[in-house]
Amino acid sequence: MKRNVLIIGAGGVAQVVAHKCAQHNDVLGNIHIASRTVEKCQQIVDSVREKGSLKTAGELQAHALDALDIEATKALIGKTQSQLVINVGSPFINMSVLQACIETGAAYLDTAIHEDPEKICETPPWYGNYEWKRRELCEQNQVTAILGVGFDPGVVNAYAAIAVNEYFDTVSDIDIIDINAGDHGHYFATNFDPEINFREFTGRVWSWQNSQWVQNKMFEIKRTDDLPVVGERTSYMTGHDELHSLSKNLDVPNIRFWMGFGDHYINVFTVLNSLGLLSEQPVTTAEGQEVVPLKVVKAVLPDPASLAPKYTGKTCIGDKVKGKKDGRDKEVFIYNVADHAEAYQEVGSQGISYTAGVPPVAAAILIAQGVWDVQKMVNVEELDCKPFINLLNEIGLPTRIQDEDGDRLLSF
Ligand code: NDP
Repeated sequence: MKRNVLIIGAGGVAQVVAHKCAQHNDVLGNIHIASRTVEKCQQIVDSVREKGSLKTAGELQAHALDALDIEATKALIGKTQSQLVINVGSPFINMSVLQACIETGAAYLDTAIHEDPEKICETPPWYGNYEWKRRELCEQNQVTAILGVGFDPGVVNAYAAIAVNEYFDTVSDIDIIDINAGDHGHYFATNFDPEINFREFTGRVWSWQNSQWVQNKMFEIKRTDDLPVVGERTSYMTGHDELHSLSKNLDVPNIRFWMGFGDHYINVFTVLNSLGLLSEQPVTTAEGQEVVPLKVVKAVLPDPASLAPKYTGKTCIGDKVKGKKDGRDKEVFIYNVADHAEAYQEVGSQGISYTAGVPPVAAAILIAQGVWDVQKMVNVEELDCKPFINLLNEIGLPTRIQDEDGDRLLSF
């Protein structure tokens, strides 16, 4: 049984992960939070203590760590005797944290695909460029590595697998729809790291159609759906992590990702992008100073974690799945609705961080219990997803299903 968690990163998602680990420290053991800026880790520790989130007495400590330093990460894993590492730092650190886990035997979990800071939108499948190159090494070293176990990617991969395995004979289409119908009250802000957020939209849009990769431009293709709780919403085809594993692991010819944007977001994004202010390539000012425009934009926008106290409204994220069952056409929508204000009340974070932070903790609990301790590298859809859905129902992210039999809680 694996115990003791090292959380890497101290942003909005890490805040949720820390609170949720604390609520389940009877299973997970001691909790350590490490990031470059130890003060941010300490603030999370203080918030966990203030809210009384620790279920039982146990260690809860902050550490300074540059996770790009593999030896330092290995040393911290050893010192804290952590057998579970939840990486919710920036996606630039994935490969070094994974390497530290491979060399120490700790289980590895993350919520986003690895990125090279100097490259945007690489060749699909994205996991093949970095993570999957370590698959054999994980298996040889019997290291459990669960990739992309946030909400999207993560829970939506589980929804896709459950739809394919439980509700259809054949599936033709999976459309993953992510709507944030919340209001943060600022002129403009992103819900997570602006640098990562914009990088998702400045490159090509890859989708999986007719069993091959297709390229489009951002905001080129849209759809409108009438969704539970949030109502009629327009979303745009977007490139996203989960397509790059689902297309390999599920036999489904069409898999697309759609993200909801308001006109205001699109206008501001278009201006910034057209001016070159979203570029990850450095420019030199008249004074001879080299700056990366995207990093400057990040520096002037609100810190995503600061949005939480005033955030209202809900998110609705789910998979619309079409196919055949018993010779008849069938469609299901498997989804979750989360509430920004409720998330803030429980763990001091907004709903996007909440939906991203609860699933890796559920996965860590399943590893600790031996249910998901598979001792190899997997994406979520390769696992038995039923215990994951059941546990998420219990710990804050209930799953619902809509089909010809109505709308109900999904549990197994
Ligand atoms: P933030 O930008 O708020 O936080 C990232 C953290 O990573 C910061 O605390 C930062 O350090 C830390 N960090 C960066 N580089 C290093 C390093 N070299 N060593 C140690 N720590 C480092 O991000 P979020 O909390 O919003 O998101 C966290 C992750 O979750 C991201 O990978 C994001 O893409 C992912 N995500 C996934 C979602 C999903 O549903 N799957 C949804 C939303 C986010 P510091 O501040 O200490 O300097």
